[in-house]
Amino acid sequence: MSTITTRQFPVSVAIMLASIVAVCSAYLVWNGWMRSDFGLTPWASWHDLTWQIAEVDSRGRIVRLGSHPLSIAALVGTVSVCFVAFAVGAWQFFTGNEVRSKESKISSQLDKVGQDLDDEVFALMNILKQHIDFSSSHSEALAKVNKTLPSLTSADQIRAVVQRLISENTRIQSEVDTLGLRLQQSQSQIEKLRTSLSESQRLGMLDAVTRLKNRHWLQLNLPREVNAAAEFKEPLCLVMADIDHFKNINDTFGHAVGDEILRRFGELLSKNTKGRDTAVRYGGEEFVLVLPHTAIDGAHNVGEQIRSELESKKWMHHKTGAPIGTVTASFGIAQLQVDEGPESLLERADAKLYEAKAAGRNCIR
Ligand code: GH3
Ligand code: MG
Ligand code: MG
Repeated sequence: MSTITTRQFPVSVAIMLASIVAVCSAYLVWNGWMRSDFGLTPWASWHDLTWQIAEVDSRGRIVRLGSHPLSIAALVGTVSVCFVAFAVGAWQFFTGNEVRSKESKISSQLDKVGQDLDDEVFALMNILKQHIDFSSSHSEALAKVNKTLPSLTSADQIRAVVQRLISENTRIQSEVDTLGLRLQQSQSQIEKLRTSLSESQRLGMLDAVTRLKNRHWLQLNLPREVNAAAEFKEPLCLVMADIDHFKNINDTFGHAVGDEILRRFGELLSKNTKGRDTAVRYGGEEFVLVLPHTAIDGAHNVGEQIRSELESKKWMHHKTGAPIGTVTASFGIAQLQVDEGPESLLERADAKLYEAKAAGRNCIR
């Protein structure tokens, strides 16, 4: 029997645990503080540091011991902060907001790398412009010398011109060295940015919930697969899968359980896609398998293997033990036709999936 686990949202769980620990610690410290001072007259007096108020009779005995208002305020404040932190953690946990924040992190990471690349290219253009300016100023200096050469008569004049040429050459040499160094720095910076960009792009093509390839990946890669299949006259199939009545699962057991089922279904698809096959989360509870070198019969076998394995699982909630029952999915298959494009292939697989839904779900068309 498959159980739903909650290994998602570790940060939200950590926030909730930390807030519980903080409330317990605050209570223990406060309580211990109060108790430790009982009977200790020097400490249990009007004293801000003790966080306590003592009423002392004429013989110096404590007749009443209470909490200092500040200590109560500190306790109430700590408990309130912890309560808010717990609520935020729980909200993130149950709404799956954390996953969305991961996605926006990737997108802002992409934006930043793009901006850094722009800056670096701009810096590189400046270096090249400077280089061109230096070269033309050098040419001008040489042209000037060239003009004055025929009118030189004395050895001193020739020496002065040679001196000028030498110092001009030294200046240009040092400029070229500086430019070379800056070019080298710029090159290594661009190299780093390129690595960072390809990592961000890799993350940008992954689905945050299932870690499968996402729709963006499909949009970039399906045309390539279609072209390759057409060029080498190889078969290519798409299997489109959609979990049945998934909305009911969300509505009955919550979004976190729905997410876990998506993750498990993703694992099932990955397990059944080997070699050049790719499993993609197309969106929501819809998935696409891209099967190069595979004709309709082979694709049907893959779909049937996944459908029957999913159908055979019995699910239950790991915390409450509540039975979730079986989860099924419907499948639509299309094989690439001559001169067909990627959009049409996807549309035909989608139409077949629609047929499977209309035929009662948990089947392949
Ligand atoms: P059918 O058998 O016709 O496919 O019905 P269905 O309920 O599976 O399809 P419907 O399109 O009515 O509902 C899909 C639901 O999937 C609605 C949406 O809230 C949910 N969903 C989409 N993305 C996610 C997600 O990332 N996580 C969770 N938990 N639910 C999602
Ligand atoms: Mg569905
Ligand atoms: Mg759907």
